[in-house]
Amino acid sequence: MNIATPSPVAASDGVFIDNAWQPSASGQTIEVFDPATGTAFTRIAAGDAADIDAAVASARRAFQGAWGALTATERGRVLTRASVLVQEAADELSQLEARDTGKPISQARADIQATARYLEFYGGAADKVHGDTIPFLPGHFALTEHVPFGVTGHIIPWNYPAQMFGRTIAASLAMGNACVLKPAEEACLTPLRLAEILREAGLPAGALNCVPGYGHQAGAALAGHPGIDFVSFTGSPEIGAAVQIAAAGNHIGCTLELGGKSPQILFEDADLDLALPIVMKAITQNAGQTCSAGARLLVQQSILPQVIDRLKHSFPSLIAGPQAGDHDLGPLISAKQRGRVQGFCDQADADGVPLIAEGRIDASAAAGGHFIAPRAYGPVPRDHPLARQEVFGPILSVMGFVDEADAIALANDTEYGLVAGVWSRDGSRAIRVARQIMVGQVFVNAYGAGGGIELPFGGMKKSGHGREKGFDALYEFAATRTMVIRHD
Ligand code: NAD
Repeated sequence: MNIATPSPVAASDGVFIDNAWQPSASGQTIEVFDPATGTAFTRIAAGDAADIDAAVASARRAFQGAWGALTATERGRVLTRASVLVQEAADELSQLEARDTGKPISQARADIQATARYLEFYGGAADKVHGDTIPFLPGHFALTEHVPFGVTGHIIPWNYPAQMFGRTIAASLAMGNACVLKPAEEACLTPLRLAEILREAGLPAGALNCVPGYGHQAGAALAGHPGIDFVSFTGSPEIGAAVQIAAAGNHIGCTLELGGKSPQILFEDADLDLALPIVMKAITQNAGQTCSAGARLLVQQSILPQVIDRLKHSFPSLIAGPQAGDHDLGPLISAKQRGRVQGFCDQADADGVPLIAEGRIDASAAAGGHFIAPRAYGPVPRDHPLARQEVFGPILSVMGFVDEADAIALANDTEYGLVAGVWSRDGSRAIRVARQIMVGQVFVNAYGAGGGIELPFGGMKKSGHGREKGFDALYEFAATRTMVIRHD
């Protein structure tokens, strides 16, 4: 199938404020490139601080007006309707997502289904958040309720634009906040279109405003805006730290969903037929540009030769190619990102790190596309950059470990703490090990399992703090108000 050119509405070069497209304050625009060809196919607005001011003011009006007046059930219905509309527009949205990010069309379709599911999940959850009553002093009645902050700022990356929209915006709206979204300049067409779909679903004007633009302009203006009450940031640890400092300047809270260097631990009794296809998928999905990519494969020494041998046979079958071909992986998002990933490979080659195997780039790939063949290296020395830094590309680092204690130490020997996988037929061992890995999410004999909209997700250490996904996310977007009533 061909990937269609986005509709003019979706490719609008304005900012979405008060439920309408408006020209940006500066009139400046940013070219949008197809990562599979390297050619520009549309433009988006380069929103800046003035647009963020207007967006925040609009959100405040909505919070104090029509949006704030809705009951939780009514808010939930808007989101549930939006979920149905997303499914009805799934074809259009999938093509837009594939064109904008370069990902294979089936992956884009799965992402749009996940987006619909976020809206469905949080739509259903909106009126199920309730507080507690607390035993307290005689003659006093104590209770809590969870109240929205007011206006929440959301800054998201380019790797899963639609899913990130669903994950952060749906949860915040469900709690009753009004949102200002700054999507990533590299890929943000589906978030812009999704804002229109929420309007269609009945979201009152101002409850969601969307300002595309550069991070150092629109993003920084949003993170530090005195008119917002909370920031939800997903992106790199470096920018996450800047966002947290900006939030601290306004004495507001933030969630940071940052990077990862997630380990997959293969014990000698692991079911390799089950594990290895999932291990390969976990590093090639979205061309490795996934915060939870299974980037480190930790293998018990006794089976290391066997695992390397199996990767030698299976890795070469992996193919990178353009969206419509629906290959194992697409291109990287940009020439810059491709150069960065290639740099890691060049350094590994120069340092003599053994290349286990390499996939290939399909012949149909355009010369201007940002393709890179997936690679597995190993054994990678434990102090090599390939073992320690987030590559954000389809490069698997294989390392050996001696025993259980060594596996745990190696898995935890990282600045990051996002996700881990433990593979063993010994259930007790798998659980014992899983509970000692310092990550926010750990899988046993599985990895990534179905997107996990229902499962709380987030980091420890440099992977950030706060939880998105699942019911827990709702509490991130609310303050607990305690009330004490004296009745004697
Ligand atoms: P990035 O930090 O460069 O950009 C993320 C967003 O921040 C973009 O919208 C960008 O415009 C904005 N931004 C840039 N500078 C800013 C500033 N000074 N102030 C405010 N906003 C600014 O990250 P990236 O390179 O786009 O994304 C890749 C990173 O995101 C990786 O580290 C990856 O692991 C991480 N990530 C994490 C998760 C998660 O859930 N933990 C999910 C996806 C990606």
